[in-house]
Order: sequence, then C-alpha cells, then structure tokens
Amino acid sequence: KETRLRVVLRVRPLTCTETRRGDRRVVHSLGDGTIHVNAARHNATFGFSAVFDAGSSQEAVFEGSGMRQLVELAIDGFSCTVFAFGQTGSGKTYTLMGPLPQSETQPAAPGLLGLMQRSFTCLLEQSRSRGSDLALSASYLEIYNEQVRDLLRPGPPCALPLRWSKTRGFYVENQLNVDFESLEAIADLLLQGSQRRRTSAHALNRHSSRSHALLTIHVRSQAVSTHPAPVGEHHPHPTLVPQPSACPSKQGTLCFVDLAGSERVKETGSSGELSVEANNINRSLLALGHCISLLAKPRGKRMHIPYRDSKLTQLLARSLGGSGITLMVACISPSSHCLSETLNTLHYASRARRVTTRP
Ligand code: ADP
Ligand code: MG
Repeated sequence: KETRLRVVLRVRPLTCTETRRGDRRVVHSLGDGTIHVNAARHNATFGFSAVFDAGSSQEAVFEGSGMRQLVELAIDGFSCTVFAFGQTGSGKTYTLMGPLPQSETQPAAPGLLGLMQRSFTCLLEQSRSRGSDLALSASYLEIYNEQVRDLLRPGPPCALPLRWSKTRGFYVENQLNVDFESLEAIADLLLQGSQRRRTSAHALNRHSSRSHALLTIHVRSQAVSTHPAPVGEHHPHPTLVPQPSACPSKQGTLCFVDLAGSERVKETGSSGELSVEANNINRSLLALGHCISLLAKPRGKRMHIPYRDSKLTQLLARSLGGSGITLMVACISPSSHCLSETLNTLHYASRARRVTTRP
C-alpha cells in the first residue's frame, strides 16, 4: 500500500541573540497542525501532520512525531528514515541529538536528549523484552563536498565509493558496521562519529554542520519460534512442535539524517573554502528538492527520478521513492530575520507531504 511521507514541523524558541536584536516572532502555531506566517507582505498558512512550537519538549516531539512507531516498524523489518531539514541554526541537530554537551564529564540533561537517543532507548528496551533475538549494529557516514566518509573509522577521513547493485540499490562500499548491545555503546559511537563530523564556524551558528550526516541502525531479528519451548510431558510428540525456521528472520533499518543547512550562500558570509562547501550543500539540497518535486507527482505521471544527481539523493533513494517509511522534521526559527529561509523551508516541506512510498 502507498504511504505518504510524514512531515512534521518544529519551531525553535527565539535565541538570545535574536531577542537582544529585537527580532519579531513571525510564525505562530494555530493548533491542529497548522502554522501561520505573518510578516510584511506575507500572510500564509501551512498544514503539517504535527506542529511543535517553541514550548514543545523533546519528549513531546518524540511522542508526537511518530518516531516511536518508526522504531517499531524498523524492528518489524521496514527501512525507516527520519530526516531533519532547515536552515543553519534552525534546530536540526538539537532535535535529533539534543544540545551539545557542556563538557566531556557533563552530558546533557536526560530531558533534553533528542530523537536519536530516545529511539536508541526504545530499541534497546524492545530488544531486552524480546530476549536475545534482536541483533543491532550501526554505521555512520557523512557526505562532505560530495564525498562519502566513514565517521566510525579511526584515522583521517577518506572517501568511500558509492555503488549500485540490482539487489541492494545504492550502497557504500567498505563502510564500517559496528555491533552494539547497550545504550552506552551506541551513545559512544554517536559521540565519536559526531566529533569527526566536519563543522565550521559560520555566521549563523558557531557549530554549524557543513556536511550531511547519516547514522543507520541495522536491526536483525533472528529466526526464533514464537512458541514456547516444548516441555516433555506436555508434548508426547515433540516432532509436532513448530521448528524455529517456521518464523522468517527480518532485517530493518532506522536511519537518522542530519542535513546540512539549507540557506543560500549569500546570507552566511561564506567565502573561499566555506563557499565551496556551501555550493556543494546547496547543490545536493537542490537535487533533493528536485527529486521531491518529481516524486510528489502522481505515480502515473512520474518521470525518471534523477537520484544520481547527488550522493545525498542516491543514499536517500530508497527512503524517498522506494520501499521505505519516512519522517521529515522541518525545523524553522520564528524570527522575522529568518523569514525568507523559513518560507523556503515551509514550501519545501509542504511539497514533501505529497511524496509517497510503498513500504
Ligand atoms: P542546526 O543544527 O539546524 O544548525 P542547532 O540544532 O545547532 O541548529 O541549533 C542552533 C541553536 O539553537 C543551538 O544553540 C541550540 O541549542 C538552540 N536550539 C535549537 N532548537 C532549540 C529548542 N527547541 N530549544 C532550545 N534551544 C534550541
Ligand atoms: Mg546542525
């Protein structure tokens, strides 16, 4: 059955800088999944599956976005993806991972943990309640200047080849896939990988991510019979008890995509190396936007989808157009200062709502 992309919107609070500058709030949640933008010549309303305003907690976003269901679907063997989209400084990384830890010894408060950590907790709880039949592993990649790099591999970053095969679709060759069994282990992998991620100081955000990052959790549920183990005296004919192979094994994935900022180059004061980065980011987000526009057309009227235009669209091909289940979290600032980028994000996200997949 066809399923629509689920698109939710998160509005972050005004930052201290924005408040000090005297920025006006131009975005207002009207409840019921609608948002109203009111500024200068703009007066528009947009609808989403859910809207989280500045007062929403991280937990509310986890529960209200459908993230918990996505985790459960991954355990059931589906390919699930959540991606955070929006301009630099709009709260993408905060939504996915929570605030940056203040220091090595002082991790973020549990209430501020993001969608990723909450999903890990949920996965490991499920894993424990199901006995030992869930095998979990993680890979973590970034796309920087159109190169795919492994964030879990120690040593200097090196580019990995992206290939295509009939059975696997697009895949990255030689990427590390690390098994984990505890919350501490996966939190550690996330931290190590995030520290390797390419970031640059930027006019809009001091810790701006200049790459797209994709953390994928592979969930394998092994073939174990759901029937209780036979007990001799109750089963005089043990051969009649279903064998474990009666229940097929499932392989699902849960992929978290933290996209680099969507803003245009001129607004960030980027030059030199930074502008090469910005152009690559813009190009891949443009390719993503183009694929989304084409995918948003009814299936019968669809043309060829140019996934090959960027590394990002190749890696997201399955989640966007194929058999995946996808949640998009569009992030915006409420400030009058960000109005044009906010409208861009809202239009982009509204278009994404029309995309369908066949899980
Ligand atoms: P992005 O990843 O989109 O560039 P960040 O997630 O780094 O943006 O957020 C920019 C700044 O705003 C950070 O200092 C972050 O802590 C803060 N911030 C973002 N979203 C929220 C929120 N919902 N509540 C409080 N602070 C937030
Ligand atoms: Mg970020």
